[in-house]
Amino acid sequence: MHETGLVRDLIRRIDQAAAANGAARVSGVRVWLGALSHLSADHLREHFVVEARGSIAEGARLVITESDDLVDPDAQHLRLESLEMEV
Ligand SMILES: [Zn+2]
Repeated sequence: MHETGLVRDLIRRIDQAAAANGAARVSGVRVWLGALSHLSADHLREHFVVEARGSIAEGARLVITESDDLVDPDAQHLRLESLEMEV
């Protein structure tokens, strides 16, 4: 499923960033959702809860900025903007 892949990829990027910073836990995740990603913020949130289970981002607060810019070069993508980490 497309959304599952997108969210798994996001979790993988979060894992890598957390490891690079020596974080013990990720408590907040800020993402930007492209207008052509075919995902609503609510749907993204549901997938995030499922995919984050057992990962360093389990239970993290997810803040989503929904873009309506159809011509943004990242319009089909999900951008990881920032993380709140506990070291
Ligand atoms: Zn879905």
